[in-house]
Amino acid sequence: MILLDGKKTSQEIRNEIGLEVKALKEKGGKTPHLAVVLVGNNGASITYVNAKIKDCEEVGFKTTLIKLSETISEKELLEEVHKLNADSDVDGYIVQLPLPTHVDEQKVIMAIDPLKDVDGFHPENLGKMALNLPTFLPATPMGMMDLLDRYNIETGGKHCVIVGRSHIVGLPASILMGRNHYPGNATVTLTHSRTINIEKILREADIIIAAVGKPDFITADMVKEGVVILDVGTTRVVDKSKKSGYRLKGDVDFEGVSKKASYITPVPGGVGPMTRVSLLKNTLRSARTK
Ligand code: NAP
Repeated sequence: MILLDGKKTSQEIRNEIGLEVKALKEKGGKTPHLAVVLVGNNGASITYVNAKIKDCEEVGFKTTLIKLSETISEKELLEEVHKLNADSDVDGYIVQLPLPTHVDEQKVIMAIDPLKDVDGFHPENLGKMALNLPTFLPATPMGMMDLLDRYNIETGGKHCVIVGRSHIVGLPASILMGRNHYPGNATVTLTHSRTINIEKILREADIIIAAVGKPDFITADMVKEGVVILDVGTTRVVDKSKKSGYRLKGDVDFEGVSKKASYITPVPGGVGPMTRVSLLKNTLRSARTK
């Protein structure tokens, strides 16, 4: 079994980005600039945003953090979005989700300029992705494609079973794995909570992408020998031995499944760090086109 080390791979990609930014600056080019909009005081969102800003600093990007109150109205938030659309110095920006319930998330995503949508959530960018046109790809599926690529894992003609059909992970991953170039060309089965006999489908999989959010959902008896596992799940489970009081658990029973897998991502340290680095790749991509 080979561990798909997202921590190490994402560091390699960060180093490459850092060198490109340095060269860009030396040539008098523009410093890539990512803005992040954070609404409210959600603990997990604050942690994610801080990590994203730290990543940007490491590679030499400029960052702007826009902190807004939990009680901000939808209209005021949309005004902030319009300001960022108009700011020519900002190459890309994200609005950290989830938003407070009184704000329509879809409306906010629709208001983001697709040319600055470095999360790749705007319908225009999802549409371009589906049509195989150059665009920003959503961070988590993009990170998984990079991981498959960096480990030279064959995907052509393989049966890829995806568990979970969220708009940010499962659904776009199914499109990317089915595209007619590497990494892709897989025969894709997209499963969800209404899927019947999921265990049988999983046992036929050469590659499994698990994005359910249920710890240990996939166990060793549900997979075949040699399977490739990309575990997206990150559920917080109580762990009194940790300072934080919790640890992250994937959707796959790592201990059992890793004995049968050819490749497997750990949780943490697998898909998560690859997701973070994808945001940097999209921001650099946007800056390059300026
Ligand atoms: P989500 O919106 O939470 O949806 C979960 C998906 O799982 C849904 O499509 C649901 O089906 C499906 N599901 C639920 N129970 C199922 C069952 N018994 N059998 C088959 N499918 C079932 O998904 P998400 O946002 O993609 O998040 C999934 C997990 O990934 C979470 O733990 C999240 O924290 C983690 N995550 C990690 C990263 C990272 O970078 N590592 C990024 C994003 C998300 P229905 O559609 O039928 O309801």
